[in-house]
Amino acid sequence: MSVSDNIKRVQDRIADACAKAQRDPTDITLVAVTKQKTVPQILEAVDAGLQHLGENRVEEAVAKIPQVNDDANDELTWHMVGHVQSRKAKHVVQQFDMVQSVDSLKLARRFSRLAGERERRLKILLEINVSGEASKYGLAGYNWYRDSAVRDDLWPEIGEIAALPQLEVNGLMTMAPYDADEKTIRRVFADLFGLRNALANELNLSLPELSMGMTNDYPIAIEEGATMIRIGRAIFGERD
Ligand SMILES: *Cc1c(COP(=O)(O)O)cnc(C)c1O
Repeated sequence: MSVSDNIKRVQDRIADACAKAQRDPTDITLVAVTKQKTVPQILEAVDAGLQHLGENRVEEAVAKIPQVNDDANDELTWHMVGHVQSRKAKHVVQQFDMVQSVDSLKLARRFSRLAGERERRLKILLEINVSGEASKYGLAGYNWYRDSAVRDDLWPEIGEIAALPQLEVNGLMTMAPYDADEKTIRRVFADLFGLRNALANELNLSLPELSMGMTNDYPIAIEEGATMIRIGRAIFGERD
């Protein structure tokens, strides 16, 4: 299967999930996650019409993004989806349009300052660890609706991030457990949806974007309200 065939299949499944959930497919942004893929492979996805691309490692991205941008006919939007170490944040602000993986107040402050130095505003999503897995990054959001201590930490932290001058907080991002059963995965996505609504109401924030869903679970994520899905393997095949 070619990359463009794979993209068509993903788009068909997006349409099916939207039909099931009575949602409009144009409300879903497909972000092709291009980690470990070469510039020619990435350009196949661009030629097939994708404009949103995601990378998770700073060094790899910095090497590839200018080459892809040079060869692409359309304007591309690059999403950082992996954990960013503070000392690499500068490169991220130079190359990316959106950072989906802001996972601490400290990193958010740094991004705001670096964006200010470049006289720009940076779109971000807040990565929330809803599943509670120790291996996952993100602001602690496990059991947020039952555990007031979680909210007592999370609400002020998000309030401070939202008030930073150079950041536009567009929404939330999460990752479900890799190989959990459907019920568990669905609950993680539903919890992020509920958290967004609670934050929007109680902190008076507009958080339209919910980035959730990868190759294994994006139809479930769409049913639970995702507006962005991040797909690697279903488009480019298995990684090494
Ligand atoms: C790799 C990655 C993806 C894509 O995963 P696939 O299973 O290949 O679809 C999505 N989000 C993040 C944060 C990733 O690192």
